[in-house]
Amino acid sequence: MQHSFDISLEFAQTQDKLDILHSYRERFLFPQHNGQNSVYFCGNSLGLQSKTVRYLMDGELNDWAKFGVEGHFQARNPWFSYHQQFSESLAKIVGANKEEVVAMNTLTVNLHLLLMSFYRPNGNRYKIIMEAGAFPSDQYAIETQVRMHGYNPNDAIIEITPKEGSHIIEEADIEAAIEQAGDSLAVVVLGGVNYYTGQLFDMQRITVAAHKVGAYAGFDLAHAVGNIPLHLHDWAVDFACWCSYKYLNSGPGGVGGAYVHEKYGNDPTFFRLAGWWGNDEQSRFKMQKGFVPQQGAASWQMSNAPVFNMVAHRASLDLFDKAGIIALREKSLLLTAYLEYLLLQLDNLSFTLITPTMPERRGAQLSLLFHEKGREVFDILTKKGVIADWREPNVIRIAPVPMYNNFEDAYRFYEILKSIK
Ligand SMILES: *Cc1c(COP(=O)(O)O)cnc(C)c1O
Repeated sequence: MQHSFDISLEFAQTQDKLDILHSYRERFLFPQHNGQNSVYFCGNSLGLQSKTVRYLMDGELNDWAKFGVEGHFQARNPWFSYHQQFSESLAKIVGANKEEVVAMNTLTVNLHLLLMSFYRPNGNRYKIIMEAGAFPSDQYAIETQVRMHGYNPNDAIIEITPKEGSHIIEEADIEAAIEQAGDSLAVVVLGGVNYYTGQLFDMQRITVAAHKVGAYAGFDLAHAVGNIPLHLHDWAVDFACWCSYKYLNSGPGGVGGAYVHEKYGNDPTFFRLAGWWGNDEQSRFKMQKGFVPQQGAASWQMSNAPVFNMVAHRASLDLFDKAGIIALREKSLLLTAYLEYLLLQLDNLSFTLITPTMPERRGAQLSLLFHEKGREVFDILTKKGVIADWREPNVIRIAPVPMYNNFEDAYRFYEILKSIK
C-alpha cells in the first residue's frame, strides 16, 4: 500500500474531513486534560464510554424499579432472553452464524469453559500448542487445564517462539510445530492478535494445519474482536472467546463472548459444562432432571444474563452495526499507517517498532520497544495528556482506534514525542 502522507497538522485535519467515520468520535466521552480531549491511544486496554450508555443504563434501572421480577418478560429488553439481542451484531463482527456466538461471562472464564469441551486429552493425544509469552491469564488457564487432566505442563504445552532476533512468530513455524506434534496434538490455542506486539495471525492457515493432524483450533480474540474483520465460520475455526472492554468499548469487566462452530454447538452429545441457562428454553423452567442443551453456542451459558454488565455492550454494538467492521478496518489501516509514518520521522528517541510493518499482519496497534528512557518517555506522555499503555520492561503500546481516534490525535502524539529532548 502506497500512501502520500505529510507531516503537518493541516494534513491530519484534511484526512479527518475526508474520513467517513469522523462523526463517531462525537459519540464518545474522552478523559479530559487541561480542558481538552486526551490523546486516548489505549482502546486496546479499555475502550471509551459511548454517550448512550448512561441513558440505556437508566432504562434498565427504571424497568427493574417498575417491574421487579416481571421484568424477565415485561422489560423493554426482557431479561429472560437478554443475551439474544447481541448475537446478530456479534455474528457480523466475528464472521459466524447467529447460533454460533453468545455473549456471556468474561474472557478467561470462557476460555476455561471452552477448553473443558475442546481439550479432552486421551492416550497419546494431549498436547497444546500456544504462543510463547501469551497473555498471563491464558497461560494460567492452559497450564491448569493441563494439570487438571493429570499432565505435566512442561511436557504437554508446546510454546512457539519468534526466530532469534525477531519479535514476530512466523505462521510457517507454527505449521511446522503442528506437523511435528502430529497425533499427539489435542488443540492449538493462539491469540488472534498478540497483545504485546500487535501481530495478527493467519487464523485460517493455522486452523487448516491443526485439522490436518486431527487437532482443534481455538483463538483468544481479546485483541482481534472489533479490530480486524473475522470469518470464524468460513475459516472452520472450532472455538473462540473474547472480552468486550477493549475494542468493543463495553466497559470495565464487561460481558465476554464465545464462538463455537455449529458442528459442535448443534451436537447435544458434545460435552459442555451445563447450567440452566444453556438448557433448552422450552423446558428451562420445568425444573426437571436431565440437561437438554439448546442449539448452538448459547448452550454453553450457565447462568442468567448479567443485565447491568451488558448494557454498555448493547450501546457499543449498535455503533458497530452502524459503522460496520469493514469500514472501520479501512480507516484503521490508513490511521495506523499514518501514525507509523510519523513515528518513523522521529530521530530524537531510540526505539524499535516491534509490530509487523505489513498492514495485513497487524491491527490498530503499534508497540514501541525503547532502547533507553522508555519509562521516562511514557511519564512525559502521560503528563502531556496522552493515555497509552506501558508494558514492562520497556514497551509502550499505542492503539489508534478507528471508532473514535482521528488523524489529529496521531499528529498531536507525534508533536509531543518530537518535543522530548
Ligand atoms: C485482556 C486479555 C485477557 C483478560 O482476561 P479477562 O478474563 O477478561 O480478565 C485475557 N487474555 C488476553 C489475550 C487478553 O488480551
